[in-house]
Amino acid sequence: MPGGTPQTLRPFLWRAANLYPDREVVARTAGGITRYDYGEMADRTARLAGALDDAGLVGERVGTFCWNHHRHFETYFGAPGVGAQLHTINPLLPDEHIQYIVEDAADGLLFVDPSLAEKLASAYDPDAFTSVEQFVVMGESVPEIPFGPVTDYESFIEGYATDYDWPSLSGDRPAGLCYTSGTTGKPKGVEYTQRMLWAHTMALQTPQGIPVADDDVVMPVVPMFHVNAWGMPYAMTAGGAKHVYPGPAPEPADLAALIEEEGVTLAAGVPTVWIGLLEYVEDNDIDLSTLDRLVVGGAAAPRSLFEGFDRHGVDLVHAWGMTETSPVGTVAHLKSDLEDADAETRIEKRLTQGLVVPGLEFRVVDDEGTEVPWDGEAFGELLVRGPWVTTEYFARPDASEESFEGDWLRTGDIVTVDGDGYVKVVDRTKDVVKSGGEWISSQELENTVMTHEDVIEAAVIGVPHERWQERPVAVVVPAEGADLETLAAECADLVRAEYPDWWVPDDFLRIEEIPRTATGKFDKKRLRERFGADAVEGEAPAEAAPEAAE
Ligand code: AMP
Repeated sequence: MPGGTPQTLRPFLWRAANLYPDREVVARTAGGITRYDYGEMADRTARLAGALDDAGLVGERVGTFCWNHHRHFETYFGAPGVGAQLHTINPLLPDEHIQYIVEDAADGLLFVDPSLAEKLASAYDPDAFTSVEQFVVMGESVPEIPFGPVTDYESFIEGYATDYDWPSLSGDRPAGLCYTSGTTGKPKGVEYTQRMLWAHTMALQTPQGIPVADDDVVMPVVPMFHVNAWGMPYAMTAGGAKHVYPGPAPEPADLAALIEEEGVTLAAGVPTVWIGLLEYVEDNDIDLSTLDRLVVGGAAAPRSLFEGFDRHGVDLVHAWGMTETSPVGTVAHLKSDLEDADAETRIEKRLTQGLVVPGLEFRVVDDEGTEVPWDGEAFGELLVRGPWVTTEYFARPDASEESFEGDWLRTGDIVTVDGDGYVKVVDRTKDVVKSGGEWISSQELENTVMTHEDVIEAAVIGVPHERWQERPVAVVVPAEGADLETLAAECADLVRAEYPDWWVPDDFLRIEEIPRTATGKFDKKRLRERFGADAVEGEAPAEAAPEAAE
């Protein structure tokens, strides 16, 4: 039969280990900087593979509850390489969501960072974690943990051979799993097969993607629990680049130090992270001379960010994607015939979410399902399809039915497309709030706020925020005679009791009656128009979007 071997991740690591054995992998850890090379990384990954194989995890799911560091990177190749499925878990989620996710995925083993052990202990529920037979702490020692059995990572891989006999896997083999928070109900799992991850990596490596070369020094600040850090670690390995992992809770000063000391050329993160870095760079004498480009995505990046980094000679590159699209779908490169366009045209194009990357197709349809013209004005919902776009949710036929039309993914993003093909996100049909790159469920907040006896009705909307891009605001119809200030404080406490602090709405605003759509749902569009930009005064609390602090 004609055709090559299946598309899998294995050749990427093989290439890096054999062509660039001395290229460095650097991680900022609690104990300082850890530094080794691809040769050692490949050896350790082989030992990890032996350990996972021995623990009976081939064909099973392996969870990670970790920040960005070298050990987490080893699992990126180790788990899928043996034929297991790497399930990255977002530790910033409410406990209840974590319980649901672990139970739904039925993870056989969980890797956990020492600094996240407390959070995992808070989420731990023996009834939900029944599948987890082992916990492996990502360090040399094990902190006090009220669950088990627990071992430390170094002991877990110790004694295994460095020449693990990697199996030949099918491209259809599930290799990854990541949950995304939806409008209604529980988070939805998105599975990534070997082929999807391979195809996404190859697309990133095109000039129209986010290509990584062997002289690049790449720092993914986007968490490794968010869609495989946007697939960057795979592209970095494929390209033979030096890796720089920022570890737990890096401040702008830590990122600046890593850029200066390690000579970072390319980094990726959400707008909030780069807003923090830009402020820090403007106030301090930081050498950004090695930094060539910064990828920004996950939420719309503001114009001031592009202009700010332009002043420092750093090219801010806007990208759009979703958990469902592995994630990169569009990148805002300038077409060659726009290179000489006037400055305003160039920045307008860079501010859009960009051009579709090679390998994907998209359509934009209005409410009637009719395709809208590419005139930069007509808008509709963006639908995408392609080899690294999922066509279903993990074990959720109900959610899949809503979100897919055949092999087209309905993104829930409302966009325009201009005559050059630049896609611009102008709104969202998804009733969720994205703060600093992390989702907050407006419906869960509404349900909680409405448990207060003095709240007749409540709707939660996302309002624009300079630093966090969006913050939740509750619009409430209070009972007669209720004092809004007291009500707000009590509702905030109710939210805090169930959800992380950063879910607490920034403001509680009074309304006589919540407007409704023709079908009787809260009309959030009208609420956003009415309360939008001016609703939030002042700064959101420091923990408003934890991603910024990672
Ligand atoms: P997630 O699945 O958590 O990665 O979220 C995907 C969603 O984030 C998209 O459907 C958009 O609503 C939003 N998003 C991602 N990137 C961008 C961007 N560059 N600009 C605006 N919204 C974005």
